[in-house]
Amino acid sequence: MFEKILVANRGEIALRVIRAAREMGIRSVAVHSTADADAMHVRMADESVCIGPPPSTLSYLSMPAIISACEITGAQAIHPGYGFLSENAQFVQIVEDHEITFIGPSAEHIRVMGDKITAKDTMKQLGVPCVPGSDGGVPDLETARSVADEVGYPLIVKATAGGGGRGMKLARTPADLESAFRTARSEAKAAFGNDEVYLERYLDTPRHIEVQVFGDGKGHAVHLGERDCSLQRRHQKVLEEAPGPAITPEERARIGKVCADAVAAIDYIGAGTIEFLYENGEFFFIEMNTRLQVEHPVTEAVYGVDLVREQIRVAAGLPMSFDQDDLRLNGHAIEVRINAEKLPNFAPSPGRITQYHAPGGLGVRVDSALYDGYRIPPYYDSLIGKLIVHGRDRPEALARLKRALGELIVDGVETTVPLFHALLDEPAVQTGDYTIHWLEKWLDANLG
Ligand code: ADP
Repeated sequence: MFEKILVANRGEIALRVIRAAREMGIRSVAVHSTADADAMHVRMADESVCIGPPPSTLSYLSMPAIISACEITGAQAIHPGYGFLSENAQFVQIVEDHEITFIGPSAEHIRVMGDKITAKDTMKQLGVPCVPGSDGGVPDLETARSVADEVGYPLIVKATAGGGGRGMKLARTPADLESAFRTARSEAKAAFGNDEVYLERYLDTPRHIEVQVFGDGKGHAVHLGERDCSLQRRHQKVLEEAPGPAITPEERARIGKVCADAVAAIDYIGAGTIEFLYENGEFFFIEMNTRLQVEHPVTEAVYGVDLVREQIRVAAGLPMSFDQDDLRLNGHAIEVRINAEKLPNFAPSPGRITQYHAPGGLGVRVDSALYDGYRIPPYYDSLIGKLIVHGRDRPEALARLKRALGELIVDGVETTVPLFHALLDEPAVQTGDYTIHWLEKWLDANLG
């Protein structure tokens, strides 16, 4: 096992990794920008290294600075958290060239899943159901027209290098196709330097369902059920839960096995998430994330496992500590993402926290790097904490969430907490009856 690992991240996810390491008897190294000198992850780690000025391109994304921090401190492995360098195949290659272990999948798997056409092709070959659409890239408008006639409308033009919802354009009718095709291409070129696009049937009323998988890198893998992340604003998840309220045990077992078999077949190592749109009882693959997700705690709650501990174990060459038969779904968990943002526009609200009080009690987990007097810097993501509740069933989890939100105090900045109080009063949220478009419509009607 490693004696020391470096955490190439900040905020709550850096704490998450430091905590797992400490329980395993592993020393942790925090890295930080000058803006984060007083951050909680720096205080909590055993050692820390300043890696640059506030902009993340010069600090948390600086590969030479992070590799140097490893060499200076003698850290044997790097945990990337999520975001930043977590899905950067070049970084993984460089880490390995320096004989440091990357706690995550191989550069090759990151590369394959980072290119959406290759990812879709790979998944299709592995027996994972995909959204009907073009076979690979669509080079010109003429090809787009003939593919569109086969696939049918409405359809969506998507960038193969896409991410964060960019480079995606909807064509409801043949008359929309030309402009959707051209706009998606030019957006993709500008955002990703790659204008390749492909076509997919557009699903009008899907839910976002994602399956958590975990592999040992030696041909063995399990699934840990699904999460429903349908409540989204601008393709960003706002609330996540496990299990999915619309998914039956039979569907869970079936899609879970398809996903576990797929990642086993490619010798995938560590945690991964296979994302689907789910409509009328059918699953359609959209992408795979080759890292730990923000919403992993809901899965940890209902399956009773520590996914970060498991990531560290398999990266160190140890076997997985559970098998499929050991994994039993227990109860229901919900996570809300608390952002320092001002409603109704969700404008970032950095500043000094004058008072912070975290909720507690049975079935309540708070993952946050906040403390009294902490100054939220304006340079990074606005996520300041995650509140996760676990109950015997969904109604109990919802009641617990309402109770815990009521105990939470975050003074000094604006947060998205009032949004969750309002959402919990909505019948659709109480019953779990919504699609990926529900929240946008609700926001227009209630905050617009
Ligand atoms: P990104 O990597 O940019 O996040 P995804 O492929 O994961 O792109 O898609 C992001 C979101 O866009 C999905 O969660 C869904 O809301 C919407 N979307 C993507 N593909 C389709 C589709 N074929 N039909 C309907 N909505 C889609």
